[in-house]
Amino acid sequence: MNLKQQLVEIRHYLHQHPERSGAEFQTTKFLKEQLIAKNIRLVPTTLKTGVIAEIGNPAKGPTIALRADIDALPIDEQTGLSYASVYSGTMHACGHDFHQTSLLGAAFLLKEKEEQLNGLVRLIFQPAEEGHFGAQQVIDAGHLEDVQAIIGYHNHPGLAPGKIGLRPAGIMAAVDQFEVTIHGVGTHAAAPHLGVDVLVTISGIIQNLQSIVARNSSPLNPSVVSVTHMTAGNTWNVLPDQGFFEGTLRSFSPASRELLNQRFVEIVEHTAATYGAKATIKMIPGPPVTFNDPQLTEWTIEASQEAGDVLHVEPSTAGEDFANFQQKIPGVFAFIGSNGEEGAPAWHHSDFIVKDEGLMTAVNYYVVNAENLLEKLSDNDSK
Ligand SMILES: [Zn+2]
Ligand SMILES: [Zn+2]
Repeated sequence: MNLKQQLVEIRHYLHQHPERSGAEFQTTKFLKEQLIAKNIRLVPTTLKTGVIAEIGNPAKGPTIALRADIDALPIDEQTGLSYASVYSGTMHACGHDFHQTSLLGAAFLLKEKEEQLNGLVRLIFQPAEEGHFGAQQVIDAGHLEDVQAIIGYHNHPGLAPGKIGLRPAGIMAAVDQFEVTIHGVGTHAAAPHLGVDVLVTISGIIQNLQSIVARNSSPLNPSVVSVTHMTAGNTWNVLPDQGFFEGTLRSFSPASRELLNQRFVEIVEHTAATYGAKATIKMIPGPPVTFNDPQLTEWTIEASQEAGDVLHVEPSTAGEDFANFQQKIPGVFAFIGSNGEEGAPAWHHSDFIVKDEGLMTAVNYYVVNAENLLEKLSDNDSK
């Protein structure tokens, strides 16, 4: 069986057996078995899930890392695929089965060339990307300490198999989550003047929040304010004393992230006060901007031509905890084509499908960039 067929089988197996963030125990076991079977060194770790492995020799040059995430989502799969999830309610709806399979493939190929590598390649099979805490766990466990640069990617259903999308600077957004409780005074629906109406207050707040993107943030710097869920009251003739809404802010620079957060709090508090209500705001910060180091991106664009058809892509307003690694060391994150058909379902949809045809492009992206980075960084060191 050739490598591609072997990897397709592995991916289908992983797709059938998805596990959620922080609970990737069988996945971890499976990955370890695959690596051990090829004589690839496992690195001892305090991580409960996820696998760290190494190929090469640190005495011969720099250390770089390749990262793939391994977790799935609480979604009931509706693809109808022959290899659909066997667990109802859990699905690889973000294609992390594809990511980890391609990193395994890259590990197999790099192992064959181990003697020729100019340094050490650390393989990071990262848990809990969807929960946005896995990258931090890997950092806290010390696996980035001696690493000089890191390479990652996300499959992209908007790109056809064979395509590799790159851009310097921000490629995915910084993510903030908010939860707001509005406190008013409940009353009979027929006597609103005796209460403080939380429904009218929340409506006003949501309308006013639209002015952040329209009037505060630069039209040249994309940002998003989305209220996604609101709830207040439970019947027709009572005005409730409390209401709730939540949602997310997305931005592409530390300055615009700060601006969004500041304007959000001001508008919520002041609008609530206008109606005589009070607001309790809880901000839950997610990952920062997935920021591609310009020099590394240039090297990656050049080397990736050997792996696929490289193109300049627009950023995505989704978030990625790969950004946590990039805050520690320079890194590059690409989008690799996984579907490309008109109307292909996006990430996190129950009918999301990645195509096996894109797998080898991802494998080769890791391999050529690992080799190239080791060479480039050795040259830099010896200068
Ligand atoms: Zn996802
Ligand atoms: Zn993902």
